[in-house]
Amino acid sequence: MKLVLLGPPGAGKGTHAKRLSDRYGIVHISTGDIFRANLKNGTPLGLKAKTYMDAGALVPDELTTDLVLDRLNQPDCENGYILDGFPRNLAQAEALTRALAAAGDQIDAALNLTVDDEVIVHRMSGRRVCSVCGASYHIVSAPTRVPGVCDRCGGPVILRADDAPETVLHRLEVYHEQTEPIVGYYRDLGKEIQIDAAQTVDRVFEDLVAALGE
Ligand code: ADP
Ligand code: AMP
Repeated sequence: MKLVLLGPPGAGKGTHAKRLSDRYGIVHISTGDIFRANLKNGTPLGLKAKTYMDAGALVPDELTTDLVLDRLNQPDCENGYILDGFPRNLAQAEALTRALAAAGDQIDAALNLTVDDEVIVHRMSGRRVCSVCGASYHIVSAPTRVPGVCDRCGGPVILRADDAPETVLHRLEVYHEQTEPIVGYYRDLGKEIQIDAAQTVDRVFEDLVAALGE
């Protein structure tokens, strides 16, 4: 199964991508996690991406698209994958469609997690992420079992620099301007599945599984 997860920052893409990856045995590919890992390791890519991420802007396509397309050619992607945070604009979506079509392939579905901006702001202010595996928590709705320690891997759980309120508002603007138009792109391809992401995590996950089937 080859899936794209759409939705504004804070919609729950990372949360559900991890669950879907476990459920269906498909690889979770998060461009945000890839950039953050590069930044942590001090690679040239990480240092370049940092400027854009700190500002809540999109990292340029030339640093992003080939990175993802190369990743999709790795052997572990043969059984399927779930893309979280990519594509993020029309050029990236078209590049993905073209690259897959060249191999006679296509994605199965674009799952569109919808939620209002007010809910997003609340979610992002309470978000905490594992700095090792990227798992996402919330201080109220999804706390770690042991404070500050990731349930999945034991890594330290931290506040993301780009979750500061002023950056969140800018990321939402960027989402509406650049990313939201690709919902229509996938709708026209007959791939969009809309999911109400304002429900509890468990209900959202039930709806995702119901839409995808066993
Ligand atoms: P994204 O990857 O789309 O940016 P995350 O999966 O990191 O979003 O979720 C953002 C924040 O909202 C996290 O703190 C997460 O625990 C919380 N969250 C995600 N889905 C829900 C939900 N359905 N209800 C309440 N909180 C949620
Ligand atoms: P995320 O973890 O998906 O919220 O992404 C965090 C940040 O990484 C974004 O605000 C962007 O700066 C950058 N980023 C992640 N994915 C992409 C992408 N597909 N294109 C451009 N920038 C991206």
